[in-house]
Amino acid sequence: MPFVTRKLTLVLAASLTATAWQAPILAQTPAASLFDAHVAAGLPKSFALPRETDDERGPGVDQVVIKERLDTDVVYPDGSHAMTYTGTAGSHEAVFTRLGETLRISVLGQSVEARTTIAQYRSAPAPAPTPVPDDAIVPSSTPSARTPATLAKNSVAELRFWIFLHDDAGESNYAKFHNWYIAWWVRDMERSVKPGIPIKVVIKDRLPGVTDFDYRQGRADESLYAFRNAADRYLYTQGIVSSALTKVMLFVGDRPDNWKGAYGLALARDTVAMASGTGPRHGVAHEFGHTLNALHEHAETRFPCVTNMSAYVPGLFSCQIHSGQNDVQIREYVQQAVARDAN
Ligand SMILES: [Zn+2]
Repeated sequence: MPFVTRKLTLVLAASLTATAWQAPILAQTPAASLFDAHVAAGLPKSFALPRETDDERGPGVDQVVIKERLDTDVVYPDGSHAMTYTGTAGSHEAVFTRLGETLRISVLGQSVEARTTIAQYRSAPAPAPTPVPDDAIVPSSTPSARTPATLAKNSVAELRFWIFLHDDAGESNYAKFHNWYIAWWVRDMERSVKPGIPIKVVIKDRLPGVTDFDYRQGRADESLYAFRNAADRYLYTQGIVSSALTKVMLFVGDRPDNWKGAYGLALARDTVAMASGTGPRHGVAHEFGHTLNALHEHAETRFPCVTNMSAYVPGLFSCQIHSGQNDVQIREYVQQAVARDAN
């Protein structure tokens, strides 16, 4: 078991010269160019698509069917918006991401070799220690004790996830990050979990006071509360009042000692979480899941994969879905939060 913490309860980026104004000419890869040309002609669309040279599945050509573009807006630190599409690659369900110059494909229900920085995770971590603590920390106050969101009149309820990439996380390849952690999660949220309100994901980096947060200090719960405050202060400067529908996550590199062996942490049914790049592919979905009242007890092992709320089981890859009951848990949590905000 990977996600962990202890009994606390732990359930557990003037004068610009003319040259500077010239935007760099980004050379799209052949796969990305081919993909764009087909998609521009309308969906659904079926065609043969050569894999990117660094496709996580290795070299090859896929017969793909691109069905639809997802609605969820995902914004990266450079201001680029990831375009995420659903469809099939060969005989498998797949999620396609267009971001920057490249195209990424995440094939669902398939184990893939983990190759690059997104982590040491891909280098087969050692089995989790025993006993394993839990990663879901129950907030010291009651869930409703936190000041509910004061949504401005006429504002539209939206489920917003803010992911702050810590300065030490080494996650500068946004397309890879999106493909590994976000694209399939967004698909599952839109198509199965269906929280009933729009979802937006904003990813930020290099923000003094936030992405340089010292998460190694203090106990795990103290660290979560302190980061929640740091993130809320940043959001406030952006004109955003924190609410139960505004979730924040610090994405870090190596796990600190105060996580007691966990690969991530979250305040259950609250707004704050942390995840390590050394954890499983479903680490981001898992920890945000805790903030949405998804539970370990409803996780499923669907050999050879595990659903999002499962602990990290070496040898079993991520199914890249929540499970039926956790879909319900999340849906109900969001409906209640929307109702509270409306009052
Ligand atoms: Zn957990």
